[in-house]
Amino acid sequence: MNLLALNWKMNKTPTEAQEWAQELGGGLQVSNAELAVLAPALNLPVLATGLPDGVAFGAQDISEHESGAYTGEISGAMLKDVGATYVIVGHSERREYHGETDADVAAKAAQAQASGLTPIVCVGEGLDVREAGEHVAHTLGQLRGSLENVGADVVIAYEPVWAIGTGKTATADDAEEMAAAIRGALREYYPEQAEGIRVLYGGSVKPDNIAEICGKPNVNGALVGGASLKVADVLAMNDAL
Ligand code: PEP
Repeated sequence: MNLLALNWKMNKTPTEAQEWAQELGGGLQVSNAELAVLAPALNLPVLATGLPDGVAFGAQDISEHESGAYTGEISGAMLKDVGATYVIVGHSERREYHGETDADVAAKAAQAQASGLTPIVCVGEGLDVREAGEHVAHTLGQLRGSLENVGADVVIAYEPVWAIGTGKTATADDAEEMAAAIRGALREYYPEQAEGIRVLYGGSVKPDNIAEICGKPNVNGALVGGASLKVADVLAMNDAL
């Protein structure tokens, strides 16, 4: 089953999250994909009680540390305690605006796993790299660094930076080219589990393009930003899968 991972980014107050969860509960009849809402941390307790049965939730970042004097950070134990099951690590916005390196991402992913959470590890190239034809080498390099000492209970999200929030979507063939390359690397890192590790595509996914992209053999779902905010779009994406 595909994973439809919904990245709200820095949107929705707890009150709005509650309303969204209720509206989803009213509209969701059959889940054609596993749904997971990746929300700002303050919304997680609301989602824990408000989401329909079977819809998972998680955070958008995690501290690489277990606990202690790290003001402003949120630990894996805290996320686990409210019922989160997933956490995004290494989103391109965190890499760009917060200077997160592959080593930081790997440390966060390992900490997520140590806390019993599944990290969604994001990788992907910028426009200059794609135009230079270096996108596969670049993304696989990021993947290698971001999975250092990380176990196989992981989801990979390929998100070309030029396609995030821009309305420019990679073609389904572009997504499959990279997903297949990522699968090849996963076979090397996790020979036993590679076929079962989900590789998602993210970047301007919408109701009208999700089916074609997720229909590709190595793409096992989508990480969706903008189109995750309206319940109607989420229901339409679920229906399309
Ligand atoms: C994202 O934030 O991970 C993302 C893919 O955003 P969008 O769907 O808006 O491009």
